Amino acid sequence: MRGVVNACYGSAVSERAAVLVDRCMADPAKEHDISLVTRQLGRFPRGMVAVGARCICGKPLAVVTRPQLDDGTPFPTTCYLTSPEAVKAVSHLEANGVMREYNELLAADDTVCEAYMAAHKLYLAFRHELAARLGDSEEHIAGTSAGGMPTRVKCLHALLAQTLVMGSGINPIGDLALRRIQGEFSPGVCRCTTQIES
Ligand SMILES: [Zn+2]
Repeated sequence: MRGVVNACYGSAVSERAAVLVDRCMADPAKEHDISLVTRQLGRFPRGMVAVGARCICGKPLAVVTRPQLDDGTPFPTTCYLTSPEAVKAVSHLEANGVMREYNELLAADDTVCEAYMAAHKLYLAFRHELAARLGDSEEHIAGTSAGGMPTRVKCLHALLAQTLVMGSGINPIGDLALRRIQGEFSPGVCRCTTQIES
């Protein structure tokens, strides 16, 4: 099937996605992490297969969710932001009209626009790789990434999650959002408040 993948995304993108999936799957969802994320979200994280990014204290910041939940529900938001501090910080940006600014940037700057398209393709390739490994169907989410990609900025939470899971230099809007909220949230500064009963 590798040939089919290459035809869809290009071999370099597929290779990069496979490396990212390897890295994430090396940190599979453990009982302790699932309990923490349940606390963070206030609900059970269905389909959580791995922790995609951690705070320096070790708590999950974003998780990797499988493309298809156990009951068959398609789930497009593969990189999902769970840190309440990050969620809050990004919500402040959205409330302050930053999405409009980023949409204008996307419309005006070809370099950002191209990088955003590449981030979209990598997101799809990442999910495709995950789907192949887990045997999940992508039937209802094929071509759909997250956060409004590839042409709009609709959800900064989803874009920041991609930046946290895949690293900076991949999603230009997620990177901008992360820089902008550093006074409130940074993966390198623990401000975690979620506790778990031991
Ligand atoms: Zn922390």
